[in-house]
Amino acid sequence: MYWERVTEEIYLFTSDRYALVNSVAILTGEGLIIVDGLPFPDEARQIARFLHVHTGLDFHTLILTHHHIDHVYGLSPYPAHLDVLAHERCRQKLLEIGEDSLAEARRNDPIFDDVVLRIPNVTFDTGEMLLRAGKKTFRMFALPGHTADNIGIFYEEEEVLITGDAVMAIPIIADGNWGQQMATLKLIKELSPDTLIQGHGEVILRGEVHTVLDRYIVYLNCAREKAQIALDEGWDPKEIRNIPLEDCGLERVPLGIASHQLHIANILSVYRELAEEQG
Ligand SMILES: [Zn+2]
Repeated sequence: MYWERVTEEIYLFTSDRYALVNSVAILTGEGLIIVDGLPFPDEARQIARFLHVHTGLDFHTLILTHHHIDHVYGLSPYPAHLDVLAHERCRQKLLEIGEDSLAEARRNDPIFDDVVLRIPNVTFDTGEMLLRAGKKTFRMFALPGHTADNIGIFYEEEEVLITGDAVMAIPIIADGNWGQQMATLKLIKELSPDTLIQGHGEVILRGEVHTVLDRYIVYLNCAREKAQIALDEGWDPKEIRNIPLEDCGLERVPLGIASHQLHIANILSVYRELAEEQG
């Protein structure tokens, strides 16, 4: 696990064992706000201990950006009485599939035996949710596309946006929706945060935000074009598997997960969306 200070009040923890997934801690006068956890229980425990020792603060609130297990499992070590904030869809999804997928994770690796699933208890469905802590303001709103339940957390005073997987080194929409993801990237551009903390990988700093988001928009347009061509020309879906990621302006990224497979899954998902639209 790596850690760094993003600002005086924000710590970022990044897993070196799974896809550079991020967990964020924000210091407030009323305690620590935690956004997402790292997937492995020992990493999660290490973060909780580190924060307690380094800041001397208690924990205030937990927030989940979305229901994917690499973000959820790491909330285990925090006190059980804390509120867990998320989108209502996140709560629904975890109630629906949370225990089953945890059982499966445990079958694959007993390291997950220690994980206690935390179900969000404070949620919002439409509009925004506001959290005030120690004179700091956190505005939460939907950023769907990667998943239907993904939210962003905007820390107003410092103009830091935590996006969950709405922003990733390679956009992933296979479990989501192309149109929603495009709208989300455009919304983030309009918001124009000073600093952007993605769900996985490095922090995007002032001056880079628009360039990076534009690159992802170009990528998604390209993925849709490729899917449209494949559909119009009646390609065998197997042929889609040969379209290189580099054709859509992205490089294979050092996330430790297979960029090419994610890219193909994206195109296939748009292909299915288009095929349905066109009957
Ligand atoms: Zn995700």
